Amino acid sequence: MLDREREQVAGAARRLAAAGLVAGTSGNVSARRDDRVAITPTGGMLAELEPDQVTVVDLEGNVVGGDLAPTSEIDLHLGVYRAYEAGAVVHSHAPMGTALSCVLDELPCIHYEMLLLGGAVRVAPYATFGTPELADAVVAALDGRTAALMSNHGAVTHGADVEAAVRATELLEWAATLYWNAHAIGTPRILDEAQQQAVVDAAVARRYGRVQPAEQAP
Ligand SMILES: [Zn+2]
Repeated sequence: MLDREREQVAGAARRLAAAGLVAGTSGNVSARRDDRVAITPTGGMLAELEPDQVTVVDLEGNVVGGDLAPTSEIDLHLGVYRAYEAGAVVHSHAPMGTALSCVLDELPCIHYEMLLLGGAVRVAPYATFGTPELADAVVAALDGRTAALMSNHGAVTHGADVEAAVRATELLEWAATLYWNAHAIGTPRILDEAQQQAVVDAAVARRYGRVQPAEQAP
């Protein structure tokens, strides 16, 4: 059941661990197909996770496959799936994003690549890990975004598939590092609404981010 998704979730956990974006057992990944979700287990070592350690649950959180109990942040993952058109969700305690979550109410849009996340990234108010209150706060912070920071805790991203959700986590951590570095030497300028809209228009017009065939010289 969900063999491909279990493989993708385990692969993403190992990739995120290798990149230092998750450590030990902290962080979790899930992928959805129809009304089933493949999700990392609670207590699983992410750097060594194998597909047969990935749990399968339904959208109410009942375990329907696998031998291990799902992550304690299952409400957070299921809340994102219920609210948004997501195919995968990543939750991490990535170092730079988590540091900023202890200070900022919002990571401002200082680079146009952040528009791939929806622009400025909100910081959801603090609540105890694993609680419905935390899930609700994060789901609200994700409105119109594929990324949110969680106050004094970490980050959440989602995407159409596991690859997209992982890339969003990598991009968010890059943006957090960029903000940190810029802030260390001055006050970062923020892209205004018009500048952000111009980027969206240009990206649509030029199909930015897609591999395209070269135009052949006549
Ligand atoms: Zn966490």
